[in-house]
Amino acid sequence: MNKNLWEVYTDEQLEQLEKLSVGYKAYLDSGKTERECVWETIKQAREAGYKSLDEFDSLKPGDKVYFAWMDKSIALFNIGKEDFVKGMNILGAHVDSPRLDLKQNPLYEESGFAYFDTHYYGGIKKYQWVAIPLAIHGVVIKKDGTKLNIVIGEDEADPVFTFTDLLPHLGKTQMVKKASEVIEGEVLDLLIGSKPLKGEEKEAVMAQITKILKEKYDFEPADFMSAELEIVPAGKARDCGLDSSMIMGYGQDDRSCCYTSLRALIDTEDITRTACCILVDKEEVGSNGATGMYSRSFENGIAEIMEKLGCYSELNLRRAMANSMMISSDVGAAYDPHYADVYDKKSSAFFGKGMVVNKHTGSGGKYDSSDANAEYVAKLRKVFDENDVTFQMTGMGKVDAGGGGTIAYILAQYGMEVIDGGVPLLSMHAPWEIASKADIYETYRGYCAFLKDMC
Ligand code: MN
Ligand code: MN
Repeated sequence: MNKNLWEVYTDEQLEQLEKLSVGYKAYLDSGKTERECVWETIKQAREAGYKSLDEFDSLKPGDKVYFAWMDKSIALFNIGKEDFVKGMNILGAHVDSPRLDLKQNPLYEESGFAYFDTHYYGGIKKYQWVAIPLAIHGVVIKKDGTKLNIVIGEDEADPVFTFTDLLPHLGKTQMVKKASEVIEGEVLDLLIGSKPLKGEEKEAVMAQITKILKEKYDFEPADFMSAELEIVPAGKARDCGLDSSMIMGYGQDDRSCCYTSLRALIDTEDITRTACCILVDKEEVGSNGATGMYSRSFENGIAEIMEKLGCYSELNLRRAMANSMMISSDVGAAYDPHYADVYDKKSSAFFGKGMVVNKHTGSGGKYDSSDANAEYVAKLRKVFDENDVTFQMTGMGKVDAGGGGTIAYILAQYGMEVIDGGVPLLSMHAPWEIASKADIYETYRGYCAFLKDMC
């Protein structure tokens, strides 16, 4: 088994690790929705010399280019010296995270309280989201096209919101329910007010909220129809543990891999094969929709890039995709000694032991899995070993304990080599997830090695 990285790292590496952690926490804080992540990514990429595809008339090796679609997904490229048709080295992570979305007609009043009705997004344990401070992030698009960016609950002066839970004194019936039923989806209505508007006879609390929305945020309840407002945990990512060896923060699935993939792309210079970083939306709900990995947006963007490189044809496009190699940059389940019975210790990822690599995901009899080819795994091992990258080859828990998927199998449909690799997490999909700073740094190192040396 690997040595613990904290015992192995040099002082210089520990310094780099801490620097990466600071940048990572700031990335988590500025990107709590898929849109915010894409905006922050564009900001960092532009600072590093990347330009939007439409700013280029033609492309050549050495150019740094990105295209975003609908503000929710983005692909960035460092064009390599090698013929583009020979394929790219792709790091693909997802920018969406589990959360709750406001419904399209969310505002109502009941028993002197005003609420926003919500619909949860992704695989959450609903009981984890009650009785904690929450923030509202997102956009409201008015009928005239005006876009309002909303963030309420992050500034010290802002109010926060919450879903209420039942007091234990009256929880006798609730406490014997199954965990999946303790808090039901329709109970998750966000508490947003209790103060009636003076002189209002009917639904005066709701009237007060409507007045605040108009005066402070400049929109009407009808504008919720064309809004995307997301309920996320309020507060910043922070160091975790007395030794500050870990980071606790919201949305680390999969922004830990977004940030490390993005920084690896930006920091890796002088590459041979074209390096690509995809940050895509909708992974947590099946990768559908115009901004999910199933969308043709990525392929369309590749076609545009090839046109500007002067090598586009339908056949060349297919060849470029099939010749590509990918790490599906996604998080893995770290071994948790308190829930040891669901893990196979020999195939588990441990904190401080490096990047987690999964040859396959899926559930049951590897159902829905994209199983990486042994030949490809061998190449990757070689690249990692030559670059002194520490990784752990794992599976997700015991064979019949459950399972999960990533975007790996979608890109594999082009016939390219794909494997899953990223950061191991504790409390995955909880409001506050935990990662080891050492594993984040090691994953970044692994991604850099892959972009530079995989061929
Ligand atoms: Mn994920
Ligand atoms: Mn997930």
